[in-house]
Amino acid sequence: MTETVLPSSVAPVFEEVIRRNPGEREFHQAVREVLESLGPVVVKHPEYADAEVIRRLCEPERQIIFRVPWTDDAGRVQLNRGFRVEFNSALGPFKGGLRFHPSVYLGIVKFLGFEQIFKNSLTGLPIGGGKGGSDFDPKGRSEAEIMRFCQSFMTELYRHLGEHTDVPAGDIGVGTREIGYLFGQYKRITNRYESGVLTGKGLTWGGSQVRTEATGYGAVFFVNEILRTTGETLEGKRVVVSGSGNVAIYAIEKVHDLGGRVIACSDSNGYVVDEAGIDLELLKEIKNGARGRMSDYAARRDGAVYVTGGSVWDVACEVALPCATQNELDEHGAATLIAGGCRVVAEGANMPTTPGAVRVLRAAGVRFAPGKAVNAGGVSTSALEMQQNASRDSWSFEYTENRLAEIMRSIHDRCLETADEYGTPGDYVAGANIAGFTRVADAMLALGLV
Ligand code: GLU
Repeated sequence: MTETVLPSSVAPVFEEVIRRNPGEREFHQAVREVLESLGPVVVKHPEYADAEVIRRLCEPERQIIFRVPWTDDAGRVQLNRGFRVEFNSALGPFKGGLRFHPSVYLGIVKFLGFEQIFKNSLTGLPIGGGKGGSDFDPKGRSEAEIMRFCQSFMTELYRHLGEHTDVPAGDIGVGTREIGYLFGQYKRITNRYESGVLTGKGLTWGGSQVRTEATGYGAVFFVNEILRTTGETLEGKRVVVSGSGNVAIYAIEKVHDLGGRVIACSDSNGYVVDEAGIDLELLKEIKNGARGRMSDYAARRDGAVYVTGGSVWDVACEVALPCATQNELDEHGAATLIAGGCRVVAEGANMPTTPGAVRVLRAAGVRFAPGKAVNAGGVSTSALEMQQNASRDSWSFEYTENRLAEIMRSIHDRCLETADEYGTPGDYVAGANIAGFTRVADAMLALGLV
């Protein structure tokens, strides 16, 4: 499918982004996707163009790239590259996760940081946007190696952080364990127990209830709201989830809580079809305990089939939740989903659907909701963790989950109201981009040329 044409008011900005950031393919994709929605906004608000708000938004406030040396268990020196892109702090301290994965380079960190600005804005909470990470591959590394890597990473990064400056959290390859080592090293270097400097902490050392579950739960709360607009629920629905990491696991849990049935999930080697519904206890045991693979799940579960060819999108379903990684659902996957009767696609991961796949889905009338709205539950709960840290308080699971559900409802409604206001009713992409953008843009105007 051919690319859509960018509104002429924003096309020069995109050209400049390509020129200034050569080779950063994912960053270009993320910028383009937002700019495509902004034509009507520029027409309605000439003040944004006068202040060059869109150009300024596309240029990070600060980008940090650093060397991360560490020694492996054999005593050999290893070297990785660390990144933190502090993208926009008009709404609050830079906020966004750290990703440890071999695919990480500046273009990935910038795409994630750019998305994070709008996502964080949509939450309505006081958080700016940023992202970081490293090309470090945690796969096959021992506990001690992970700890030494985290300590080296933080030994450089700490000087750029602070509860009022920049607050990282987890992402792919970074969970509570890594946040623990990072927090420990930050505390040691600064001699401060500054709880609010990182989120995703453990429950005994300043973490929040529901933070672990939040991205997956939040995504399913969002799906519930989408279905509610047509009087439907998840009850009895066949759902396919890609991935089997933190987001996928808790999305599956919440779908099951709400009466749906997740019949397939995946990892980077293959996928499992389990018509009886994914056995979550077994999945958690395999993934969290031994950090195993989906093939291990199939080997231990009667009736489950492990498939290595094709993709998880070959499994017929009514609702699909891509919860693995960027660009995992392409045009072919989208066409197969449609043929299998899929009516709703909601992104649990960041930018998992290619632009071509989005066009295919929308042309077929599938309701499509973008990650910056659907997966905002994770960072929202991070903001709730910051609130608890600031007041030295800790809330109950039930109270925190209710707050999360409320936030997801309001993000959903804000997307639809904004889509209506700008003449594209039902368009979650335009609604999320425009609502996210205008809140940041207004704050940038108010703060002057900084
Ligand atoms: N990495 C997550 C995201 O993509 C969470 C960020 C956070 O909690 O700061 O939104």
